[in-house]
Parts: sequence; C-alpha cells; structure tokens
Amino acid sequence: MKKNQKLNILYIASEAVPLVKVGGLADVAGSLPHALANLTPEDFANKEIDIRLVIPFHSAIRSTLNNIKLVATFDIHHTRGKIPARVFQTNLDDITLYLVEGGFFLSDQNVYSTDLQYDTKKYLFFSLAVLELIKILNWQVDILHTNDWQTALICYELSHRRLSDPFFKNMKSVLTMHNLPYMGGNSEKIMSEFGLSPCPCHSLPEWARSIPLPIGMYSADFLLTVSPNYMKEILTPEFGCGLQDFLISRKDTLGGILNGINQDQWNPKTDQHINTKFDLSNLSDRGNNKEYLQSTWKLTVDHTIPLFVMISRMDQQKGVDIAINSLRMISHLPWQVIILGTGDPVIETRCRSLEVEYPHKVRTIIDFDPELAHKLYAGSDLILIPSRYEPSGLTQMIAMRYGCVPLARATGGLKDSIIDHSNLEVKTGYLFEELSPDVMSATLIRAMTDFKNQEVWQKIQINGMKADFSWTNSARKYALIYNRLTEETG
Ligand code: ADP
Repeated sequence: MKKNQKLNILYIASEAVPLVKVGGLADVAGSLPHALANLTPEDFANKEIDIRLVIPFHSAIRSTLNNIKLVATFDIHHTRGKIPARVFQTNLDDITLYLVEGGFFLSDQNVYSTDLQYDTKKYLFFSLAVLELIKILNWQVDILHTNDWQTALICYELSHRRLSDPFFKNMKSVLTMHNLPYMGGNSEKIMSEFGLSPCPCHSLPEWARSIPLPIGMYSADFLLTVSPNYMKEILTPEFGCGLQDFLISRKDTLGGILNGINQDQWNPKTDQHINTKFDLSNLSDRGNNKEYLQSTWKLTVDHTIPLFVMISRMDQQKGVDIAINSLRMISHLPWQVIILGTGDPVIETRCRSLEVEYPHKVRTIIDFDPELAHKLYAGSDLILIPSRYEPSGLTQMIAMRYGCVPLARATGGLKDSIIDHSNLEVKTGYLFEELSPDVMSATLIRAMTDFKNQEVWQKIQINGMKADFSWTNSARKYALIYNRLTEETG
C-alpha cells in the first residue's frame, strides 16, 4: 500500500546556481530540482512530487536575497558547546529553498577552503542541521538526496537515526558522487566532537573508514554518478580511487545519470552574449561569429582555417598538456586555437608558451570569462576536451548546442554524449581512446579532413545541435530511481 500520494524529496547541496557557484555541482543543484518539479505525477508512480532544496546560507549570498522568512531555530551539539542554527525559507522560482545559517557559515566568505579539517567541521554542522530541520518542520521526507563529500555524512547519520527515532524510520538516502577523487579528509575526531560514532564500515578499505565520502557511500541506500560510463569506469582500478572493490559490491544499488544543460541559458538563437544569433534555419550566419573571434584576437580572418577552442579549468584532469603536445605535432597544418582557462599556474604557463611558439596560430586567455565562453562556443569549429577522466562534462554538450563540434577523450560522460561513428547520420563528434598526443593529433587530422568538406561538417554540426541534452531527459531517469526506492519502503 502506498504511504501517501506525495513524494517528498529534499535535495541537499553545498552550492546552487543562481545563488552561488564554484563548480559543476552548482549547475546540477540549480537545475535538476526544477526539472523534477516540472515532471508529471505519471513520472512518479502517480504521486505529486514535493521537491525542496537546502544549501548553506553562505555569506556570499546574504546580500542577494530578500523575501526570506525564519522557519527554524535550534542548536547543534558539539563537545565545546551548543552551536546555534537558524534556517530561513524562500522560493527559487517553483522550488522551496531552505538556507542554513550558523557555525562557520556566519563568518566565512568562501564556499570551500583548502583546509579539509575546517571544511569538515563546517559541513558536518550543516549536515546535522539538515536532519534537525526536517524534524522541526515535521516534514516526512521520502528521500534525502545528498551530493559529494560535504553532505555525505547525512547518509551515515540517517542510518543511525532510522533505528532509534521513528520519525526517520522510512527515509531513504541517495548520494551523488560528482567527482570521486574528492572524498574529504580524515574526520574521526570531528565526527566524535559532533557526537557521531566511528563508522565500522567493514566493506570499505581501512583507510577509507574515517573519510566522509566513503562513509556516505557505505551508508547511502543508492549511489549515483553523473554519467553511465563514469559509473562503469569507477568499478576499475584506473578510475575507482581504491574503492573499486567496494563499488563492485554495491553494483545493484549504483547508477549513472548524465547531467543535462540549461537549454534556455545555452541557446544560440537567443544568446545575448553572441554577435550573430543563429539556429538550424540560418546556420551559415554562424560564420560571422567565427570572423568576429578571428579579428578580435588578431588571427588571420579566413573561414577555411579550422578554429579550435579550449574552455577549461587548468587542471591535470583536463589533459591540457596532451592537447598542447598534439597541436605541436601538427603545427605544419593550417589551424588556429583560442585557449580560455585558469587554474594551475604550471599549465597556464605551458599554454602561454604555446602562444609564444606559434604567435600566428595560438591565443591564450588566462581568465574565467563566462561571456567570452559564450562567444567561443558560438564561433569556433572544434572544441578540444582531452580529459584524463570526466564524470559528466558540460562543455561538450554546450558546444554541440552551438554547432561547435567536440573532439574528446573517450572517457566518462564524454563517451556517453558524443557519437563518433562512421555513419554520418548519427555522428556528433570525434573520440579517441588512448591518452597520448600521437592519438589525439591523428584524431585532429581526421576532424580537419572532414572540415574541408563543408557538407560533411555541417551534417555533424546539425546532428549535435539536434541532440537532446535537456534536464527533463535526465530528470525522468532520477524519477525512476526515486520510484524504486520508495516502492521498497512500501
Ligand atoms: P568542470 O565542472 O569539471 O570544470 P564541465 O565541463 O562540467 O567541467 O563544466 C565546465 C563549465 O565551466 C562550462 O560551463 C564551461 O563553459 C565553464 N568554464 C570553464 N572554464 C571557464 C573559463 N575560463 N571561463 C568561462 N567559463 C568557463
């Protein structure tokens, strides 16, 4: 028998757009709850969904919000004394949003720091406050959907409260792992200061038994990654970060759902940041955007020269070094590249050096510039994404929407979203398996050969522009997981 005709979901994240963004999690938390709220009861076994979002009340968002009301005041217990918490409620379009205030969130300006111990205290306070909040609101949540190491310990604490407190008895937890290597640090002492017992976690390797993400993985009812292929990859030693055996043991309760993109925000037909708006009906106008880029960045203005782009964090993960070396290998050919990114100074310097070596071909822009990113998607021919690993990846999906063809390593979500097939009817880009400059440069040559035949190239562009990377598509897959978990509860 169904418990009620409502499906209550609390989506819990450390960041969410449009309020606060550091990484990709913010995009997911800012889009997925809305997409779920907009599905129909048929998608949820004939239940009405009530999905709400909770994030910390970061100092950075204090001044941007009005119309907030205080809904709960309570204390979180710590060995050094009680930490007062206040929770505010507001609306984010069609979603109820809770903001948890207190502890370090009162004084700290940053969403994350480089001090894992400090962040553990901060987010454990938040995690415990979330559990307290639903109890004070007397809101019978069906599923607590947590994200990354910062909120993973909610799954652990819930597993205890389910046994001792009837209020939590039927609640289930989901943990999405957006980037497995980021697990948090040793938390045993901090957990004990907040009254949490050490995790026996027998099925985890010993080193992982005091670290938030693995503890959350051990305790959550369902584990998710942000693409089906990354899910498979983390079952292997190459990508599993030492947890592959544990993950294999959880195979039946492990899933992978590709992220979507906000198709209103990323729409070449309405994009205010680009010079010439376009869609499938006037694709040839897109050439104006390429011309604009070539002239603005003082490259030879010539539509027959393929213009590559990289828009990326400068991080080992992204394989910028591989791209640089592969471009060197084909320096005798006509191409241009614009590199936009910030991060690791060593990688930034390598990109600058490439520009010094090939001043007529390369432009390196060390910056985080969202407006320029829109222009680059709208005017470049090929985006290079040679990632070492890629849990989901957004750039390839955004690029395809703008007719910028992706050339990527066949890994994670890149492999799930790009089709490199001999059948031109389905092809949307170029993939290569082995992470080496040789293989990448051979793939670049393959793409440049196709580029010479504009009929072939346009077909690949059109296929990508037609692909459906909407959040609605992904949200339906999340609905199936939620349905499965609540059916188990009965
Ligand atoms: P990750 O989240 O691992 O950095 P994704 O591909 O999932 O990579 O998402 C990257 C997002 O950040 C995309 O929206 C991309 O346009 C944007 N981005 C990355 N670097 C820059 C930059 N230097 N300037 C502007 N936008 C950037």
